[in-house]
Amino acid sequence: MKIIDFHCHLYDSSDYETYRNWMLRAMINPNFWLTSPSADGDTLKSIMEETGVDYCVNLPVATHTKGLSIDQRVKSKNDYALELNQTTGLISLAALHPEQDKVEDHIKSLRDQGFTGVKLHPYFQKFDPSADKLKNVYQALARNGLFVLIDNFGWRNIPAEYQTTPQIQARILMDFPDLVVISPHLGGLPWYGKEAVFQYLVEPKYKNLYLDTSNAYIRARTKDWEAIEYIFNLQIQIDDKQCGTDIHKEKMDLFCRRFIIPDSVMLEIIHKIGPEKIVFGTDWPAFFHDREVNRIKRLGLKPEEEDLIFYQNAARLLKLT
Ligand SMILES: [Zn+2]
Repeated sequence: MKIIDFHCHLYDSSDYETYRNWMLRAMINPNFWLTSPSADGDTLKSIMEETGVDYCVNLPVATHTKGLSIDQRVKSKNDYALELNQTTGLISLAALHPEQDKVEDHIKSLRDQGFTGVKLHPYFQKFDPSADKLKNVYQALARNGLFVLIDNFGWRNIPAEYQTTPQIQARILMDFPDLVVISPHLGGLPWYGKEAVFQYLVEPKYKNLYLDTSNAYIRARTKDWEAIEYIFNLQIQIDDKQCGTDIHKEKMDLFCRRFIIPDSVMLEIIHKIGPEKIVFGTDWPAFFHDREVNRIKRLGLKPEEEDLIFYQNAARLLKLT
């Protein structure tokens, strides 16, 4: 069976440092969450060979960066994305920022360059996903047949206007019924909880909504912070040398055993929304590929359901078939 990982983040070493620093500021232990000492295409390709993953999808995020305009930042991300697209097995979405110049023309040019979708990250890119100015962006994406993967990251201390809650996602789906939306982290399950995901996303069954499984099962709601911090800061320390090793994997397994959403919840979501609406993702370098693949395999899905989740749905979105 073929496997597509729909949710990866590749970046050069300067981005990698930025990302680590951001995690430190958010009191997230970067040595624990970054499972590889680097996150470039060569590193990922060798992991794919080891773990039998056929394709990985890169999700580039163009953020405000010192010394660069938004347009320059988007361009540098998309130059890298085009470069990645030359490598067998790697597929990059395009970066986009709602504040860039002539955003609608830009979206059309992305389609012409062969991109199938774009990534938006309201928190990292500092915009409100329900703001009026986003309407043109969603419309232009739908018109040009590009899907959008909108991050719904809801870690603590994130200002409410940057949170893409299930309710806001539902609003976008209702207002732009032709827009294909990939909602990562099973709609935001770790931060917004099962009830909200079911109420706003799973029960209504939007025809153009897909959920990705990346980083979806860690219980990260407010009531869990204390315990999570305990594990992060006191029990699970990973030093630079241990990054990516078996010791790291074992410690992450230990963490996952304690702070995980039960398989029964994953199964309930998959069966309610339908396996044809789910795509597999890891959020690499935040998680290990072998562990994430097994997490789906151990659910005991039918082979045809697994095939949809691991490959067919993503292949269709990425126009591989
Ligand atoms: Zn991610």
